[in-house]
Amino acid sequence: MIDRDAQANGASIRNFGFITVTGQQGGKCWRRAMRSVKVWLEVAEAAKIPILQRGLLMIARRPEARAVIEAFLETEMGAECRLVESRKLSNYGSDLRTGEFAGALHSPHEARVESREAIPQLAAWLSERFGVTFVRETAVHAASPPRLETSRGPIEAEAIIVTPGDDFACLHADRLAQYGLTRCKLHMMRVRPQGFNERLPAIMSDLGMIRYLGYAELPAAQALRARLEAEQREHIDAGVHLIVVRSADGTLVVGDSHHYAATPDPFAPAAVDDLILDEYSHVFAGARPQVVERWTGTYASAPDRLMLVDAPCEGLRIVLITSGTGASTSFAIAEEVVAELFD
Ligand SMILES: Cc1cc2nc3c(=O)[nH]c(=O)nc-3n(C[C@H](O)[C@H](O)[C@H](O)COP(=O)(O)OP(=O)(O)OC[C@H]3O[C@@H](n4cnc5c(N)ncnc54)[C@H](O)[C@@H]3O)c2cc1C
Repeated sequence: MIDRDAQANGASIRNFGFITVTGQQGGKCWRRAMRSVKVWLEVAEAAKIPILQRGLLMIARRPEARAVIEAFLETEMGAECRLVESRKLSNYGSDLRTGEFAGALHSPHEARVESREAIPQLAAWLSERFGVTFVRETAVHAASPPRLETSRGPIEAEAIIVTPGDDFACLHADRLAQYGLTRCKLHMMRVRPQGFNERLPAIMSDLGMIRYLGYAELPAAQALRARLEAEQREHIDAGVHLIVVRSADGTLVVGDSHHYAATPDPFAPAAVDDLILDEYSHVFAGARPQVVERWTGTYASAPDRLMLVDAPCEGLRIVLITSGTGASTSFAIAEEVVAELFD
């Protein structure tokens, strides 16, 4: 495992640590998420990575969003999920604006880890338990079996899996050119709410139902989209939707936005954060919470696929997650790639 950084510093530690199943695109992506969450739970136990939350509460602020939930429950992906009426939502804590909702979808599948701690713990466990060697602060310039060229000299390798995240310029740029890749910048925040709500599952809301393909591809989502375009145009233009997950100290990770560019700028305008917090305030009661941390992250994005596996030659695979689904699907994708590569 070779990485140019001294420790994990990319999308994998900047995300929500939210392994999302419900809402992923029906078919392969959803099945991979179902498989990946099982692997996460198994690995988390072995590597002593705390699972901080289970489940998802998808809040419907509008009747059109409730209609999407009802349609979702008719699909096979809805089998273990259920509709929760507003009056029952106080079971998840008093900090939600329950009286103002049209209902919610509860999904039991999701799990949440603190990525910035979990990913280093995972690496340490792989190293101790399986003897995986991590070669850090080492840039790879060329990668084709039987050899890698690195900033620390050549390394022999019978098989190579190139997983460059959102760097398309360095390794096999000629192969990657065919996929029309770009990059997506996201705004993230950590806020400190007034109390610690141990019953809180991960929270999403209406805006997520027109982004997450498992809902957005349902015909019922069209009416919701039309209403949101009329009422939350600015949010949609900034790619804002709401995900809220809880950390061990009671703070909440809140996001996010989506801005696409070949080289996203490094700036994080407060106006975008305000749009995210505006949606937060429509879901959570009380005063706007104190923001204690802000960061941005980037990931790879493709116009027509959520991930790609390219096989330029025997013993070489290039694997990219080209959407915001890597935390939720990568373990399953890794199993598939390794099984195929090593037969
Ligand atoms: C803010 C944010 C929120 C997200 N939310 C979610 C979510 O809710 N659910 C979800 O499932 N997913 C989410 N994602 C997506 C998920 O985090 C990514 O899909 C996943 O982390 C990608 O993993 P990766 O290993 O490919 O990339 P990265 O974690 O970026 O790692 C790539 C690594 O490759 C190294 N590298 C690249 N080129 C070279 C080279 N030539 N030589 C040496 N090293 C190199 C880099 O240094 C880097 O360490 C989110 C992402 C972001 C940024």
